[in-house]
Amino acid sequence: MFDEGFDAERLVMSTKGELDAEENALRPKTMAEYVGQGKVKENLGVYISSAKMRGEPLDHVLLYGPPGLGKTTLAHIIAGELGVQLKLTSGPAIERSGDLAAILTNLNEGDVLFIDEIHRLNHSVEEVLYSAMEDYALDIIVGKGPSARNIRFTLKKFTLVGATTKAGMLASPLRDRFGVLCRLEMYTPAELAQIVTRSAKVLGIHIAPDAAAEISRRSRGTPRIANRLLKRVRDFAAVGGNTSVTLEDARYALKRMDIDELGLDDTDRGLLRALIEKFGGGPAGLETLAATINEDANTIEDVYEPYLLQLGFIARTPRGRVCLRGGYEHMGVKMSEKQRVQLSMFDA
Ligand code: ADP
Repeated sequence: MFDEGFDAERLVMSTKGELDAEENALRPKTMAEYVGQGKVKENLGVYISSAKMRGEPLDHVLLYGPPGLGKTTLAHIIAGELGVQLKLTSGPAIERSGDLAAILTNLNEGDVLFIDEIHRLNHSVEEVLYSAMEDYALDIIVGKGPSARNIRFTLKKFTLVGATTKAGMLASPLRDRFGVLCRLEMYTPAELAQIVTRSAKVLGIHIAPDAAAEISRRSRGTPRIANRLLKRVRDFAAVGGNTSVTLEDARYALKRMDIDELGLDDTDRGLLRALIEKFGGGPAGLETLAATINEDANTIEDVYEPYLLQLGFIARTPRGRVCLRGGYEHMGVKMSEKQRVQLSMFDA
């Protein structure tokens, strides 16, 4: 049924491997340790308990939101709370429908299959997923032309946890097959401070509460960034001969990394500057803007824009991106009267 030499384990990793071993070490292991996302946590807790009571697998779950908000971590926790194995893979890693078939037939009863970047599955693979999700079955066409036959394989019951940064890019037949849809929100500085303090403990770093708060305020609402900044701040403090991280150390390190008061870096500021100086505040198309600042359009959309949108510094309009008043103020540029009138319809 599968291509010769195909290795399902190559696509499915029990853990994401050595690549992000440190990130794995920082992942909370239980719902109780998972900070924030109150509603998502509460609801998932109910669905997990109910599935366990019924002795059935959990319904398929779609997690969506910007990168670094805890989707993979939540998949680990879901599998842990269900007491089943987690298999991890990603949309781009599954190239052919045979690859997915191999992964699915290797699952045990009740297992959780995590597919990251599920919006990047190719169409033929996605079609195989439909019957797998709905009927726990694989429909395989054997042979060609008039002698082609459809053979149906029964799979063990499993739970698919899909993660995406772009829920809007999911085809509706796929989206409709998820029984549980969870949107992850950006974290508050207080929640991030809790995460930074916990991570510092795991990494064996002493950090003053005001230093943790400073890192949290500049982490763009994102735990992955908070953890990354914590590690870099630790490096600066250690090289400076400090065994424990003070507010001063945090401020110095963040300045050296060109991260400003709000957590914006050179790329964020470059994007705002380009919108203001090269496009008169916009609207500017995403691709044009990306080419101007020499950045990948997808990266801008996934990584940079969500926080700038959340801050109300930019807006997405049908004609492109515009810089709003907050963006001008942050960059210290005065808006002209014409821009004020033009942008007033976008500014809340
Ligand atoms: P995503 O899959 O959404 O890109 P991850 O689950 O890989 O994000 O999370 C990135 C990092 O942030 C992980 O190392 C994890 O430790 C940390 N993290 C994410 N969410 C939380 C949370 N709610 N509480 C504590 N740490 C978190």
